[in-house]
Amino acid sequence: MKKYCTRCGKPMDIDATFCVECGTANKGEYKHSFFSDDEEVTYNKFATLGIVFGIMIPNVGLALSIIGYCYAKRHNDIGKKPAMVGIIISAVGMTLWFLSYIISAILQK
Ligand SMILES: [Zn+2]
Repeated sequence: MKKYCTRCGKPMDIDATFCVECGTANKGEYKHSFFSDDEEVTYNKFATLGIVFGIMIPNVGLALSIIGYCYAKRHNDIGKKPAMVGIIISAVGMTLWFLSYIISAILQK
């Protein structure tokens, strides 16, 4: 279990009275987050899923990639690059989907 700065959200020592990251005096707060902070993080499953879904279902892939990016920021940038790749793939996928929708709409007139 870790506690986090109430201002910047960075992890703090259990007995810290101010944040070493932003200098704010606060005792921090314990968080039960969506991500398990106790387990040793070695890879970013959200980023991996973000790329896979980014190819198949871009909007789902984009959501997963953004979650993956937030996850990476909390865990020493693990999977940050694949998360960014997932965001790009998803964005391109959504753009292509949107363009094909418009083109088909024009062609049917
Ligand atoms: Zn802070």
